[in-house]
Amino acid sequence: MNILLYGAIKYKQMETLLLQNTERDIARAGEILRGGGLVAIPTETVYGLAANALDGSAVAKIFAAKGRPQDNPLIVHISEMNQWNSLVREIPPKAMKLARAYWPGPLTMILPKSDIIPDEVSAGLDTVAVRFPSMRTTRKIIDAAGVPLAAPSANLSGSPSPTCARHTMDDMRGRIDAVLDGGECNFGVESTVVTLATEIPRLLRPGAVTPEELREVLGELEIDDAVLGRLKDGVKAASPGMKYKHYSPKAEITIVKGTLDEFVTYMEIVSKAEESEKIYALCFDGEEEQIPLECVTYGRENDALTQSHRLFTALRELDERGAEKVYARCPSTNGVGMAVYNRLLRAAGFSVVAL
Ligand code: AMP
Ligand code: MG
Repeated sequence: MNILLYGAIKYKQMETLLLQNTERDIARAGEILRGGGLVAIPTETVYGLAANALDGSAVAKIFAAKGRPQDNPLIVHISEMNQWNSLVREIPPKAMKLARAYWPGPLTMILPKSDIIPDEVSAGLDTVAVRFPSMRTTRKIIDAAGVPLAAPSANLSGSPSPTCARHTMDDMRGRIDAVLDGGECNFGVESTVVTLATEIPRLLRPGAVTPEELREVLGELEIDDAVLGRLKDGVKAASPGMKYKHYSPKAEITIVKGTLDEFVTYMEIVSKAEESEKIYALCFDGEEEQIPLECVTYGRENDALTQSHRLFTALRELDERGAEKVYARCPSTNGVGMAVYNRLLRAAGFSVVAL
């Protein structure tokens, strides 16, 4: 077998099976996972790149296949609430309340880890992130494997997370054993991550479960500085994933804050001044007519769920169309919008223009 280099990390080139959402193929995925292989699996958030979470050497292959920095820990996925008990040292009452309110669903909780979690999963931290997904196919795959599954998003590190099997194959072909096609992901952005290992629970990554929904159950919730801004030099990231450039297409993205009218006027100036011919607008549905540039849309202006569903697909489409520069309409940061803005901000490398 060929050994290739991706970044500094080695992976073995192999044939990648495309499995379907059938009982037979789910059983096959389970076998591969039990045997220490890697399978990309659908979830309600994005496609995940799964391995047996209790097998350190299987988990190490995830980092090689993705080219993921080794200090960035993984989320462990379970198919029944009681599997949580063996993964963490204890389940505090606040965590239990959150689980009752939002599991199964797009919420990841971080707690001090038990001894069965390999260091590869927690990347050397003494905590572990756990999620109980709501998509039935995901849970069937976990059941077929018979073990909890460690699964980060199934993209090459730095690229937008995949939200369908084709995008997953585009990134992972030749690097992993199989991709299971479960259709398009419902939410389209990764889970909400909240740590309960701190005195006051803290939001590390926004997702479809909103800060308001978390506060309803928890009362107090802090929002980590990395959620809506860039970490200052020298500050340690509470969630290592938040410090990396992420979700990024090849094009250079600038977020433009302002009304549609202001955006249109600004684009008229930009389209005359820019030398590149491959300038695109990333705008909301129905705005294309008014904008004097090629457009890719990412959902409706006042509907964060349609935006989250579309965002990563739109970022990949910009690459497919050869965009070099992209000016993006700015989403609202309310509710699920905070997750959309957080991802777009990272895709843009924090480049924001306020009109
Ligand atoms: P991904 O699954 O690719 O979206 O990445 C998982 C995210 O969860 C990354 O941002 C990680 O840094 C974060 N994460 C996973 N485990 C932990 C942990 N134990 N402590 C803090 N953040 C974590
Ligand atoms: Mg990721």
